Amino acid sequence: MAKHTFQTEVNQILDLMIHSLYSNKEIFLRELVSNASDALDKLQYLTLTDEKLKSFSFTPKIDISFDSEKNTLTISDSGIGMNEQDLIENLGTIAKSGTKNFLSKLSGDKKKDSALIGQFGVGFYSAFMVANKIIVTTKKAGEEEAYAWISDGSGEFEIEKCTKDSHGSEIKLYLKEDEKEFTSRWRIEEIVKKYSDHIPFPIFLHYTETKTEGEGDSKKEIIEEKNEQINKASALWRVAKKDLKEEEYKEFYKSLSYDSADPLAWIHTKVEGSLEYTTLFYIPQNSPFDLYRVDYKSGVKLYVKRVFITDDDKELLPPYLRFVRGIIDSEDLPLNVSREILQQNKILATIKSASTKKILSEIESLQKNDEKYSKFYKEFGRCLKEGVYSDFENKEKLLELLRFTSSKSDDKEISFKTYKERMKENQKSIYFLQGEDLELLKNSPLLESYKQKDIEVLFFSDEIDGIVMPMVHEFDKTPLRSITSKEAMEEVGTDEINDETKEKYKNVLERIGKILQNEVKEVRLSSRLVNNPCCLMEDSDNPNAAMMKMMKQMGMNNNLPEEKPILELNPNHNIIQKLIDSKNNDEDMAYLLLEQAKLLEGGKIKDINSFVARINKIIENTL
Ligand code: ADP
Ligand code: MG
Repeated sequence: MAKHTFQTEVNQILDLMIHSLYSNKEIFLRELVSNASDALDKLQYLTLTDEKLKSFSFTPKIDISFDSEKNTLTISDSGIGMNEQDLIENLGTIAKSGTKNFLSKLSGDKKKDSALIGQFGVGFYSAFMVANKIIVTTKKAGEEEAYAWISDGSGEFEIEKCTKDSHGSEIKLYLKEDEKEFTSRWRIEEIVKKYSDHIPFPIFLHYTETKTEGEGDSKKEIIEEKNEQINKASALWRVAKKDLKEEEYKEFYKSLSYDSADPLAWIHTKVEGSLEYTTLFYIPQNSPFDLYRVDYKSGVKLYVKRVFITDDDKELLPPYLRFVRGIIDSEDLPLNVSREILQQNKILATIKSASTKKILSEIESLQKNDEKYSKFYKEFGRCLKEGVYSDFENKEKLLELLRFTSSKSDDKEISFKTYKERMKENQKSIYFLQGEDLELLKNSPLLESYKQKDIEVLFFSDEIDGIVMPMVHEFDKTPLRSITSKEAMEEVGTDEINDETKEKYKNVLERIGKILQNEVKEVRLSSRLVNNPCCLMEDSDNPNAAMMKMMKQMGMNNNLPEEKPILELNPNHNIIQKLIDSKNNDEDMAYLLLEQAKLLEGGKIKDINSFVARINKIIENTL
């Protein structure tokens, strides 16, 4: 029997494990199962590559058993095993940079430090959180000698020769008095399912069941030994695409998302090279219920080498893709990766950026099927708009994915691309009209001259358009212009009024302007109207106008000063023409023009009683 002392750093960790107040102790089982899985992986690899082990046949599996009377828990594997040298090196020192990093973060404050364990999960030694003695019995594949490693975690460990029938390792935990929960069949099953369901090797749980048989005197108890596989053992995402059936993908989606509907699409990618990882993403058919809640749950799970790490990291994909469900499984990240490390991790940043591009191009290809795409867009179009706002790198691609109804689309939603293809020969810009009520937009008097000139106008009628679209100045090098803007008026020629007309209406403008001086900023002529006598315009020279509008849309309109609009009159309209000579009822006429323009815009009339009185007066006069 040989006594050894632990490396200083190991002692530091052990001290923390033994005295920690840490509540998420169950992760020790994840660590031990993952070590077993690694050991199986290693042996499997060697049987393929190592001359000495080529003919070695073995059944890879992990067994868990417990004894609730003796309060022990045992995890064994048929993996590579360890010899004496391995034991000293692997279970006596710390070679991993992740753990060193962990140690450097220790503050000496027990409470803070134990919170760190949860974030790091420090491998084998975490078993000392629940055990006050551990015996590892192990035999290396292809070697004769077996060894036992024994420690109570207090500074020293012993190694002695022992006997063991087959290769592999057996980790026996002598549980602390108050950790009895880990000798419960249900508790073990629960933990294994939570963290290790997709370990590619079967995990068997051994337990006994007591049954009573017979009646009265012949009644007897029968103890039955049970041996049940408790994990799925299939990391579906690790299976090659060509070997997976559609049904299997759908099945897996349902187990992952708790969604009863089939997914709309999925993207399965295996990346090899300087970074190795597998991703499997699903686009659901329907939005998750918490899509627009601040406390939404992330839909992506992070695995490292098939071991579950977290499903609570909202940064694995950009937040606007939060409707995506799926898995990222990295070969390169350390198992004991902390949340802080995750956030600034270069590997993850690379995976995130590549995954975003993959998902966007899958969405792009959904466009081939009109019906599919419009279903998708109805559910998640708003998220794509958030992306336009937040993902500068993919802005162009995202813009291509957006859809809007237009003055020519008959309620069918079209893309910027389609709009551009339909542009008139000399048309300089993409024209749009923004406002919250689609019906009002469709009937806006501002559209009249565009209709007459056969120019299409897009409707930005989604609430979020008011926030996102002001950040979009062009699409594919063509500028976007609101038809209320000076530029649009100039381009489409709706600003031209000849001098003769101006002269003719000088007096009308002055009169109306004076009457409405408290209501509007200006009264002017416009050539953009055809059937309507007048309309209201925002003052596009006011640099604050866009900002005000945005703030109003965000519900911050309480203390904002009221912006006065501009009233535009249509010099070709009968009513306006008649105003030149008629000087009766000027005031009523002026107000009625303003009020009807307000109504057309979907605005409210301030004094509805006076409005009705004015109408009645006119009805009376005509009758
Ligand atoms: P990690 O798994 O991240 O390397 P651990 O602390 O979990 O760190 O384990 C330390 C080392 O001990 C492993 O790298 C491995 O070499 C060895 N080891 C642990 N468990 C087993 C096992 N069941 N079979 C073989 N080797 C093991
Ligand atoms: Mg480990």
